Amino acid sequence: MIIVMKADVGPDSPDVAQVVRLAESYPGVRTQMHRIVGATRSVVEIYLIGPTGVLPTEPFEEIAGVEKVVRVTEKFRTIGRHDGGLDAVGFTYNGVHLSQDTFHVFPGLCAVDTPENLDATFAALARHGIQTARAGVYKPRTSPYDFQGLGASCLPWVLESAGRHGIRIVAMEVTRERHIEEIYGALEQTGRPTGVMLQIGTRNAQNFELLKAVGQQTELPVLFKRGMGITLEESLNACEYVASGGNHKIVFCLRGVKSHLGDPHRNLVDFGHVPVVRRLTRLPVCVDPSHSVGRRAIAPDGLLDIFHVTAQGVIAGANMVLVDFHPHPEEALCDGPQALLLEELPHFLDDARIVRRAYEERVKRVGQPAAS
Ligand code: PEP
Ligand code: MN
Repeated sequence: MIIVMKADVGPDSPDVAQVVRLAESYPGVRTQMHRIVGATRSVVEIYLIGPTGVLPTEPFEEIAGVEKVVRVTEKFRTIGRHDGGLDAVGFTYNGVHLSQDTFHVFPGLCAVDTPENLDATFAALARHGIQTARAGVYKPRTSPYDFQGLGASCLPWVLESAGRHGIRIVAMEVTRERHIEEIYGALEQTGRPTGVMLQIGTRNAQNFELLKAVGQQTELPVLFKRGMGITLEESLNACEYVASGGNHKIVFCLRGVKSHLGDPHRNLVDFGHVPVVRRLTRLPVCVDPSHSVGRRAIAPDGLLDIFHVTAQGVIAGANMVLVDFHPHPEEALCDGPQALLLEELPHFLDDARIVRRAYEERVKRVGQPAAS
């Protein structure tokens, strides 16, 4: 059961204390408090854990500060919408608001290689007013002989470069708990010039210990990439691991799935699931066209498949796009064949915005009579 407090009721209010007291007066029931900071309002939610199926809702509803009482459905207790009972208010991190109503592009390096390439990439983003980026530091690779990322040693100059170029969030993958500690250490050491979003890669989608570790820290948001060979439900359950640890700042990323169908793309594009994830959960949804398509193939209309696939995600309501760029893709140590060129950034951003506007236009017309 989730008790949603009214917007002006803070975590220290007597009404919250009353809800907690009442809930914990029932045998075996514990409470967990979450403050959800949205763009226009912050909401306190109190999660009742334990044998809550038999609890009456009325005594809670009678407390003045309570907005509503939502009985959770079996599935996706924390991230779920529970038959529309909960809004997708999202979260704000380092001044950037992410929710099911916002739209951000996170372009950048699949893997950080040199300070020059990183600076050139962040400078291009800054020129186009982009404050959100990707930069891989720890790379899980299919072959042990491939470049594994520069690791902790590059973190200070990656964070400083991001800060210098006004980047507010850098998404980077972590593959073990120690990486989280190293990122915290580097943020501390550099005076937090930017923010970090911890990425869980598709290969770690069911690494439950790692999921618990990113979930038990509540400062840094988590970008969870769908498992490439498991069901959507299994991937959403993996997000529950993160959320149940206490961290609700999660973005769900579609990145294509493995299939036996082979070419023409690296993975089978699954962006038709954008509205599904938005319906089932409160999480903002990201699409990653680079790891879905995997190459710079070009369609007869002159647009790269990566542009087309991005558009498919955005027209369906995606809230975030994670996309690979590199100043010299032929020299990239990881995923060069799918990297877009920095010269292509303005066209890419323009294209994504055209489609986002079209999506917003589509939504506006819901329920209106169609123009003939
Ligand atoms: C990545 O984004 O760099 C990456 C490795 O993605 P995925 O986990 O989706 O393969
Ligand atoms: Mn990659």
